[in-house]
Amino acid sequence: MSTIRFAALKESQSRKPVEVKEISASRSELYGVNVFNDSFCKKFMTKDAYAALKDAMVHGKKIDRKIADQVASAMKAWAMTKGATHYTHWFQPLTGATAEKHDAFFEPAGDGTAIDKFDGGQLVQQEPDASSFPNGGIRNTFEARGYTAWDPTSPAFVIATTLCIPTVFVSYTGEALDNKTPLLRALQSIDHAATEVAQYFDKNVHKVIATLGWEQEYFLIDSALATSRPDIVLTGRVLLGQHAAKGQQLEDHYFGSIPERALAFMRELEIESIQLGIPVKTRHNEVAPNQFELAPIFEEANLSVDHNSLIMDVMNKVAARHNLKVLFHEKPFDGINGSGKHNNWSLATDTGVNLLSPGKTPKSNLMFLTYFINTIKAVHRYADLLRASIASASNDFRLGANEAPPAIVSVFIGQQLTAVLDELERVKDGNLSPEEKTDLKLNVVGKIPEILLDNTDRNRTSPFAFTGNKFEFRAVGSSANCAKAMTVVNTIVAQQLTDFKKDVDSLIEKKGLKKDDAIFNVLREYIKESKMIRFEGDGYSDNWVKEAKKRGLSNLKNTPEALRAQITPEVKKLWMDNGVMNDVEIMARYEIEMEEYVKKVQIEGRVLGDIATNHVIPTAINYQNRLILNVQGLKDIFGKDFEKYAGEQIDIIKEISSHITGVKSNVDKMIEERKKANKIDHADKRADAYCHKVKPYFDVIRYHSDKLELMVDDELWPLTKYRELLFTR
Ligand code: ADP
Ligand code: MG
Repeated sequence: MSTIRFAALKESQSRKPVEVKEISASRSELYGVNVFNDSFCKKFMTKDAYAALKDAMVHGKKIDRKIADQVASAMKAWAMTKGATHYTHWFQPLTGATAEKHDAFFEPAGDGTAIDKFDGGQLVQQEPDASSFPNGGIRNTFEARGYTAWDPTSPAFVIATTLCIPTVFVSYTGEALDNKTPLLRALQSIDHAATEVAQYFDKNVHKVIATLGWEQEYFLIDSALATSRPDIVLTGRVLLGQHAAKGQQLEDHYFGSIPERALAFMRELEIESIQLGIPVKTRHNEVAPNQFELAPIFEEANLSVDHNSLIMDVMNKVAARHNLKVLFHEKPFDGINGSGKHNNWSLATDTGVNLLSPGKTPKSNLMFLTYFINTIKAVHRYADLLRASIASASNDFRLGANEAPPAIVSVFIGQQLTAVLDELERVKDGNLSPEEKTDLKLNVVGKIPEILLDNTDRNRTSPFAFTGNKFEFRAVGSSANCAKAMTVVNTIVAQQLTDFKKDVDSLIEKKGLKKDDAIFNVLREYIKESKMIRFEGDGYSDNWVKEAKKRGLSNLKNTPEALRAQITPEVKKLWMDNGVMNDVEIMARYEIEMEEYVKKVQIEGRVLGDIATNHVIPTAINYQNRLILNVQGLKDIFGKDFEKYAGEQIDIIKEISSHITGVKSNVDKMIEERKKANKIDHADKRADAYCHKVKPYFDVIRYHSDKLELMVDDELWPLTKYRELLFTR
């Protein structure tokens, strides 16, 4: 009997929901108590320090050392009231996870006593030993050091006994080594470009922020069951396993009642998150068994990205306390829906207007249409880059798997807005007559709000959909750092808005058009030019693949192919013109992501080979031997008549042999291909080899192994099965 699997099953079945300590306060009272938020800042800081900090947060002003000392001292005083003894610069290296290195406030004073110290220098900058974070050669090329620098726009927080200070992570020469630095630069770029355009409509707008509301999907598995599977432990997904007789076909999990153990986990997670200022709001079951979703209220994009990274970390910790394991992988179980992380994105002005929400007057609607159409145009122009921003080895398993958006980028806007754009497409060239303009404003632009109110048009199959007052980028993977997608979305729209302003100004200056007419004329051209990216039909259908090809849209099916879009001359120019990344940073990221792809597939290949060789084949042989003994016994009893009684057994013996050969020979071939791939010098060619030569063996090996799983005595099978992983509560 397979001891690990059965011990794990027994353990998981004996679990009770872990009791959650309800802190006797309402969620609203708990909100942000562990964050150095505005009210704590006011309470713990001098007026000068507070004003300087606000200036830094809102206008990006530099903070001088004296003020930094005051901020640090206030932060420390506050953090100590929360029980903090240590501080850390918290950052998001290119590995996708978060990183921290804890230092104590405690410092011996030299006279036998000690003090708690945290000054401006420690707040503002730190040098972690960064040599083991991926850097794509940046630090080799330049300088062997990287440092973290305080990001005052994302407030510090306390977790357990540590004060965490959100920081950027850059090389000594200033190149970004993290996900946050390019995002902050992109946010600056969109602020600038979107504000300039907003001035056409409202002179009071002086700042535009990008907003992000993510929806995190994940699986929850009993921790004993998860650890009983080496593939889950090492790769976050199952590499082998016969699908359960019952999957998600009954659709009985979606919005069903949340299992008790999961609910206890969620309650504790919510309490922790709320205290950390993460405004989590909704929780529900997802489509697949043991799959769930968590979503907060949207926030400013940088903060929201930080909150997503933070919550993923908190989820892991809380799950451990509940004897559960969170799977963030995009496709942990073949045959069952995978997980994504929808990124809901919009733009908001400092006058309180959502630029992607239709307004009440024709004027505010023209403003809405401007941002709306420019976003569509940006997606059309940079579709491949958008695809690249969500590319990863794990997301490759999900995209286009008839449950997730396809790898083809398109935009869904709904019937009514399509009709509006069709009308606008007919706007005449040059200045409009007063009658034409009134008609356009009243009957086309002016009609938008009432239409959208009852617009329940939703298309779940679209990778980039307009949903009433925001765009929803649905192709983002559940394990991804949202920073990558958000950096791209904000930069491409920033570039597009900059070009829009140039186009409109030039019609005004060179052709003498009135402002509104110029805007209508430019928008009309954009609508025409970007029409091919708009798709209202079923994104999961085969027809769309054919249709998209006819339209000339890319279908970048795998990560190595997609990543190449990041280094085209056009994209490099985009990054540089917007001050988001320089050539070194672009190439470093490209190299790191290709390398990461190789490593992920390489690890899966190794784990698969090991499990197949050490678990599957010996178990199959073991069972086959039992059958052989049985056949021999029958022969002893029945003599030459034995085949009448042993026919089935003999067939199974033969079949087992053929599948054992299937597993063994394909593992050998896969190892050969891996060896060949490892010898390839160029990271991108190596990635291609892993994608096209190594990875295809995964399915073949799995096929034979899954057949064996069906034949071998259940008691002998060493790997915890689908039904046990997915339906044990
Ligand atoms: P679903 O996609 O599951 O139907 P909703 O459409 O209700 O969910 O909204 C999902 C997310 O959209 C939430 O996280 C919400 O905070 C976010 N959201 C709503 N308005 C905006 C906005 N203006 N900017 C960014 N995100 C937003
Ligand atoms: Mg959604």
